[in-house]
Amino acid sequence: MQLFGGIEAGGTKFVCAVGDGPETLREVRRFPTTTPQETLGRAIAYFREIQAGGDMLRAVGVAAFGPVDPRPGSPTFGHITSTPKPGWANTDVVGELRAALNVPVGFDTDVNGAVLGEHRWGTAQGLDTVVYFTVGTGIGGGALVAGKLLHGMMHPEMGHLRIPHDREADPFPGICPYHGDCLEGLASGPAIEARWQQRGETLPPDHPAWDLEARYLALGVVNVILTLSPQRVILGGGVMQAMLFPRVRREVRALLNGYIAVPALTEGLDRYIVPPGLGDRAGVLGAIALAQHAAT
Ligand code: ZN
Repeated sequence: MQLFGGIEAGGTKFVCAVGDGPETLREVRRFPTTTPQETLGRAIAYFREIQAGGDMLRAVGVAAFGPVDPRPGSPTFGHITSTPKPGWANTDVVGELRAALNVPVGFDTDVNGAVLGEHRWGTAQGLDTVVYFTVGTGIGGGALVAGKLLHGMMHPEMGHLRIPHDREADPFPGICPYHGDCLEGLASGPAIEARWQQRGETLPPDHPAWDLEARYLALGVVNVILTLSPQRVILGGGVMQAMLFPRVRREVRALLNGYIAVPALTEGLDRYIVPPGLGDRAGVLGAIALAQHAAT
């Protein structure tokens, strides 16, 4: 059988799987992100087991934490570039995998991978311009624009959008090492924990943390709606509990204030700002979508 391999390369864990879509996903393996050598070594060992088992590995896709270089033809294509994660700056992920497995390797940001997976199999099917935010240990945003993943000079970095911060209402300075109170600095999981001295999952639904969180996420989402004109906005990641969605939609409606008079925003926000259709498999399935793209 011909299989595609996917690696969801996160800053805290790697998830590997093979298959050619949600129905055939198998052999999912998770392990912590340690040094590049050890972590990529475990991923390579996993795919070699698949190859040794008699299945043909057509290609591998990597949806990686970043910043990364996703531009084919660039001398540093396939590298994790300037990440603050210790040991990982300037890691040639694609080069290592290609040399070890001898297959084409697709490569992009974790969130560009996720938006591609959602476009192929999830809640973005049939649309051509879609944004995917992940809200967890960090915040990232990927975009499919006119049917293509958005790269430009590098790739979008929507997690670091600068948004209004009312320091009287929220004196917390933010935790981004580069910007302090950018979106990630104010609204990522570690920001919630640092502000309230308590992990997000232990805060009750009526805690003021959640209205503040919804406000910050809505500010980020509105800026992206106004910039890219997406047909749908997907919000995934560990922080995105179900009760946040109605609050984010309410804030987005209030912030837009009726200016964009399209039914998706005036009547259909329940279907416009949505969780990933692929659930927590969006990342690894996105990586498999990147592998399929690399094989064509
Ligand atoms: Zn930042």
